[in-house]
Amino acid sequence: MPYKDPEQKKASSTRYRAHHPERVKASRAARHAAHREQDNARSAAWRSNHPEERKAYDASYLANHPEEKRARDVNYLATHVEEKKAYDAARYATHQKEENARSAAWRAEHREEARVRSAAWRMANPEEAKATKIAWRKTHPEEAKARDATYQKAHPEVHRAAGARHKARKRALPATLTAKQWQAIKAAYGNRCAYCGKKSQHLTQDHVVPLTKSGGTTMENIVPACGPCNSSKGANLPVNPVKLVLL
Ligand SMILES: [Zn+2]
Repeated sequence: MPYKDPEQKKASSTRYRAHHPERVKASRAARHAAHREQDNARSAAWRSNHPEERKAYDASYLANHPEEKRARDVNYLATHVEEKKAYDAARYATHQKEENARSAAWRAEHREEARVRSAAWRMANPEEAKATKIAWRKTHPEEAKARDATYQKAHPEVHRAAGARHKARKRALPATLTAKQWQAIKAAYGNRCAYCGKKSQHLTQDHVVPLTKSGGTTMENIVPACGPCNSSKGANLPVNPVKLVLL
């Protein structure tokens, strides 16, 4: 029976909807399916006429649908690489401190991932990586020195080999011996001095043809020598023939 009083009609409709949510949903879906285009146009018109409400509505919708928000963010970032870059750069310019702190916190939480990412970036951007490193060393001289010292302590062979190469290069002599090759030479001699045959943990690199006689720091001209033999030999050629090991 039709209601004469509009208030009564409204109340009855509200009761009906409350009691039959499924029917309401189904009828709404059916209506939408039949009038999809009008609905979409109406929705678009509403959205463009109510920018503030729309923003608030979207924000609350996404706050209630975190999965969808994440998917949308991922999709947005994948399709707007340049915009993201520009946004990051602009944000960094105005919030350098906050961004640095945020980045440091993330790296502290994701050490391994941060290390892998940095290494990948350096591989992809060798020139920039080099420039960054040089700039960092300029602004952090004390830290740079401390890092060098730590590295040298952990890798004395690398440091010594580099030092020897540097020394030989200064004399314009061939200098190609690497720390690995030096290890191989010592192993080939059974970690013994090439002159007296004594086993030693502290073998030094002896130039068979000395630097002063244009002997290079190369795999072919270096033999292991214990301290006393190296210093007694001085800059002379070996007294006893050295058994050069084929490497
Ligand atoms: Zn010796």
